[in-house]
Amino acid sequence: MNLNELTIEKAHQGLKKREFSSVELTETVLDRIKKRNKDINAYLTISEELALSQARKADKIIANGDKIGPLAGIPLAVKDAILVEGVRCTAASKILESYVAPYDATVIKKLRKAGAVFVGKTNLDEFTMGASGERSAFGPTKNPYDLDRVPGGSSSGSAAAVADNQCLAALGTDTGGSIRQPSSFCGVVGLKPTYGRVSRFGLIAHASSLDQIGPMAKTVEDARLLFNAIKGKDENDSTSVEYGDKEEMIDIKNLKIGVPKEYFVEGIDPEVERIVKEAITQYEKLGAKITEVSLPHTQYAVPCYYIIVPAEASANLARYDGIRYGLSEQSKDLLSGYLKTRQRGFGDEVRRRIMVGTYVLSAGYYDAYYLKAQKVRTLIKRDFDSAFEKNDVLMTPVSPTPAFKIGEKTDNPLAMYLADIYTVSLNLAGVPGLSLPCGKTASEGLPVGLQIIGRHFDEEKIFQVAEIYRQSKNN
Ligand code: GLN
Repeated sequence: MNLNELTIEKAHQGLKKREFSSVELTETVLDRIKKRNKDINAYLTISEELALSQARKADKIIANGDKIGPLAGIPLAVKDAILVEGVRCTAASKILESYVAPYDATVIKKLRKAGAVFVGKTNLDEFTMGASGERSAFGPTKNPYDLDRVPGGSSSGSAAAVADNQCLAALGTDTGGSIRQPSSFCGVVGLKPTYGRVSRFGLIAHASSLDQIGPMAKTVEDARLLFNAIKGKDENDSTSVEYGDKEEMIDIKNLKIGVPKEYFVEGIDPEVERIVKEAITQYEKLGAKITEVSLPHTQYAVPCYYIIVPAEASANLARYDGIRYGLSEQSKDLLSGYLKTRQRGFGDEVRRRIMVGTYVLSAGYYDAYYLKAQKVRTLIKRDFDSAFEKNDVLMTPVSPTPAFKIGEKTDNPLAMYLADIYTVSLNLAGVPGLSLPCGKTASEGLPVGLQIIGRHFDEEKIFQVAEIYRQSKNN
């Protein structure tokens, strides 16, 4: 096995026993990236120098005989919407093409302290807006399982890099599915944490009331390690909170799993339905109690999301004016300077969201759209609250289809939005969800993910539930 194919857990053991060094491990990962990047396009920036200097530092600590944490010397990838001091951060947009991050995001600060190695910044849909990875200003990312297919989005590069062994694990971000859906399409484990559990400081904002940073990894245990390293309250993000995980181990025989009926309706790919239902049956065989539940406002989730998100995005993106950050088109007066910069700098989807967002917030339309969507959001949250009164977790598909073909949805924004049908509700409600690989389609061999949804702050329970499935399949 090549070193780049290791999990974090295995690599940590190897580093501790000095079977190999972090520099060797990092070089293997960098070689893999260089070999594969022109085909997969998972990375926008390779931070070779930084990575090697971090790896040397980790090796020194190991050589000293000092104790190391689980992420010391481990090569990670970072979605290019998260700031790493001194490294370019583009958000896959022309407007930030040559922007260099002046400080570290809080999650990056934590990972640096943990001794992690940053090999590079991964590709994404511009400003994290998309569900396929095709909306990057720097070319689409390809799915390592089939280069004619999308890896999902917006954390397209992170998912493809993990699946293709171009890193050991990665950070992604999720506003409406951007960690879970590409994880599902690329057969990796991805967690969207509870809103507020991970600091957003230093994350380029899309929709601030929904954005969360989370782990994408090869195994459940690796995702847990990475999550535990980045979570926690941060004084730079007033929405972040501290939460003490309970130590208790769950007993599968007492586990109550709710299966929302609204998630298995017309439009779902029959193979996805079969694979996800088989996974749920596996839990039943292990002793869990399965009940059908209803999340009655599910049908309003996509329209509600696509009002709230553009509204917040239009406000967040007002800062890219050609004066403070990135691209700056000179012009005879201030206004035409703004217009030219934003016209040249932003791609179609970003412009669409700014226009929709500005419209739904404007006087006269605010009540009809934005305010109404906020009310619907509350109803969606209440659906989850009542489903969790009698159930510990909920299980659904992550996406109605496996990875689709490149170009299949690019001309049809509505079809692209509908790809988010099973993921956006969780962001609106603030609850955590994990995508767990649970099988491959018989026809094309494409990965399918099971979505495990928990109550607010129940990440640890979700990890345990996911791990039970994995163990039952390995035995
Ligand atoms: N596909 C969704 C969107 O385009 C989700 C994006 C995300 O989670 N960042 O908004």
